[in-house]
Amino acid sequence: LGSDVEVHGAEVEEDPDEEDLLGGLKINSTEEIEIPDRLVDQVIGQEHARDVIIKAAKQRRHVMMIGSPGTGKSMLAKAMAEMLPKEELQDVLVYHNPDDGNNPKVRTVPASKGEQIVDAHKEEARKRNQMRSFLMWIIIAVVLGYALIIAGQILLGIIAAGVIWLAFRYMNRGSDAMIPNLLVNNADTKTAPFEEATGAHAGALLGDVRHDPFQSGGMETPSHDRVEAGAIHTANKGVLFIDEINTLDIRSQQHLMTAIQEGEFSITGQSERSSGAMVQTEPVPTDFVMIAAGNLDAMENMHPALRSRIKGYGYEVYMEDTIEDTPEMRRKYARFVAQEVANDGRLPEFTAEAIEEVILEAKRRAGRKGHLTLLFRNLGGLVRVAGDIARSEEAEYTTREHVLQAKGRSRSIEQQLADDFIERRKDYELQVSEGYVVGRVNGLAVMGEDSGIMLPVMAEVAPSQGPGEVIATGQLKEMAQESVSNVSAIIKKFSDENISEKDIHIQFIQTGQQGVDGDSASITVATAVISALEGVGVDQSLAMTGSLSVRGDVLPVGGVTHKIEAAAKAGCDRVIIPAANEQDVMIEDEYEEMIEVIPVSHISEVLEIALEGEPETDSLVDRLKSITGSALNEQGVA
Ligand code: ADP
Repeated sequence: LGSDVEVHGAEVEEDPDEEDLLGGLKINSTEEIEIPDRLVDQVIGQEHARDVIIKAAKQRRHVMMIGSPGTGKSMLAKAMAEMLPKEELQDVLVYHNPDDGNNPKVRTVPASKGEQIVDAHKEEARKRNQMRSFLMWIIIAVVLGYALIIAGQILLGIIAAGVIWLAFRYMNRGSDAMIPNLLVNNADTKTAPFEEATGAHAGALLGDVRHDPFQSGGMETPSHDRVEAGAIHTANKGVLFIDEINTLDIRSQQHLMTAIQEGEFSITGQSERSSGAMVQTEPVPTDFVMIAAGNLDAMENMHPALRSRIKGYGYEVYMEDTIEDTPEMRRKYARFVAQEVANDGRLPEFTAEAIEEVILEAKRRAGRKGHLTLLFRNLGGLVRVAGDIARSEEAEYTTREHVLQAKGRSRSIEQQLADDFIERRKDYELQVSEGYVVGRVNGLAVMGEDSGIMLPVMAEVAPSQGPGEVIATGQLKEMAQESVSNVSAIIKKFSDENISEKDIHIQFIQTGQQGVDGDSASITVATAVISALEGVGVDQSLAMTGSLSVRGDVLPVGGVTHKIEAAAKAGCDRVIIPAANEQDVMIEDEYEEMIEVIPVSHISEVLEIALEGEPETDSLVDRLKSITGSALNEQGVA
């Protein structure tokens, strides 16, 4: 999986225990882990993308990579540059065009020849200048001598000498125009170039011609000297990597496509009113392999012709977010820690226990049973913060303690926001975590990718004048409607109440935050509605998350670990989660003592736990509490 190169330099136990977070790796610290030379072998997971990159490097094909940030897209693009042949690299020179100063000439030579040519020109110019200076001083001496000795005209002599001096200066400047501009220099390049042009403005991407404030009068910089290469030119024979491809303006995308099609692209001034806009070079080679990246969204907003160009002449790959947790993978994650330590260069090596803690975090962050997260940039952040803490303490090794401390610090913006929000809500007493309240349930949601938040839901039921309506706040309306229609299907079977004749108001006590995912709140909505309908209080020291089927089954949801932690932080004693999510729970020890996790598989269990007291015999709640999914089936609920 991923790189073929496993972990070298360390002894590995055969058939390691499931509990062994290092997958049988027998090491004391990251020092003992050997890091593969090739970048492509350092890539962990992403087997498919890796294969594609290796193939595309051989065939020189373009690649489109779609996936989450920090999963290795730019790393793979760099790895591809490493694999491209270095022999083909070229230098590019721009020459003054004596016939048309605004149309500089372009010449391509093998790598490292460019510098030699420029040096040769400089040497020639120097000699010529020396010769001219020599001549100049002789003439000045003669003129001055004549004026002083023969004619006795001091002033005239000095003026004449000055004019001669200026005339020579001007001629010398003219000879500078003969020195070419080394536009692309690959003399010291160790691998084929890797150019990142994410978010580049037109000039940086397509090249530019600098404005010349002294456009005329003999003082101007010759136009060929003002030409600057763009990323498409410096990437020649290498890789051009553009992340967030859709953010590139359409005009640039069109030009990019031309460069890809033609394999060359003239440089001209990008700002219309500058003197550079009059200049246009001969075509400059742009024979690069393009790796475009972005999220799914990016693909939709990309110039369709550019996309089809890549599709037609290259590959599209999707990056994975998680990978199956196997002993082999765990060993590679240990190697990942070693890689990050080596990349940074200043972090103390990690002890085996510290590595284990990082791998545990990778498990936790996957949010999926038996998987590890592939969001390596974030995980690398954790490694660096832990190492920095160790370094600031001048510790010899980064230990498990340091990693635990780092976890507290390397919180994402969303997590920090969520914490801040919880704090503020506590101030305003929006959060209730004790007693019983009718129609109010503590729901849980995930904010961003990795932080949970408690999101209370309130329901009120009122007789309707017309046909009943579900009235919900804001962006969660659709989801609320769906949960209500599910719960009403269930209620219909067990009660004479027809909630379709009632108005149901559902209010999500607003987070004020965007991006709260709501579809996991349907058992919350159902519980709130039933509580409101029957006038029975809901336990406020309880929080819940779960999706609801029309049959009353509680279905799994995402982000349970973060949600449980959010409930604990908000002061709840118990939290209900779908039984199917039980194995996804990887809460940190500190929370384990704070909160009891109750897995359920049916709404009847939720009501049993959440609602106050014993229901009246044969009431709706009583009936709902006593049913199970199969009972519902027998009752004929579809
Ligand atoms: P992307 O381009 O997908 O946003 P990057 O390639 O820039 O992500 O990843 C950032 C850093 O995270 C890399 O420099 C590397 O240290 C680490 N990293 C990312 N993906 C992987 C991977 N699959 N294997 C090993 N390290 C990775």
